[in-house]
Amino acid sequence: MTTRTRVTLGRREDLGADCANCFGLCCVALAFTRSVDFPVDKDAGDPCDNLDPTDGCTIHPRLRAEGFRGCTVFDCSGAGQKVSRHTFAGRS
Ligand code: SF4
Repeated sequence: MTTRTRVTLGRREDLGADCANCFGLCCVALAFTRSVDFPVDKDAGDPCDNLDPTDGCTIHPRLRAEGFRGCTVFDCSGAGQKVSRHTFAGRS
């Protein structure tokens, strides 16, 4: 019997979010709507008010307490760092 693992299914081990190597793309590109997951509305393309100038989240340790539950469950599956580091060669 063959054990099905991430490797045997053909998935790459690096398909996970690496926010330290991303420009905060999900914090800018994606829209969110005031709901149980977000305390405010944000249009796609507008930077989140919690995004700092170095592309970090100023409330990261308190996301759920601040009402940003949606941010804690989203995973770009590695797209963010790929676009930041490869497509844009590290230039924000
Ligand atoms: S709250 Fe933080 S993680 Fe969520 S979109 Fe804003 S900057 Fe990004």
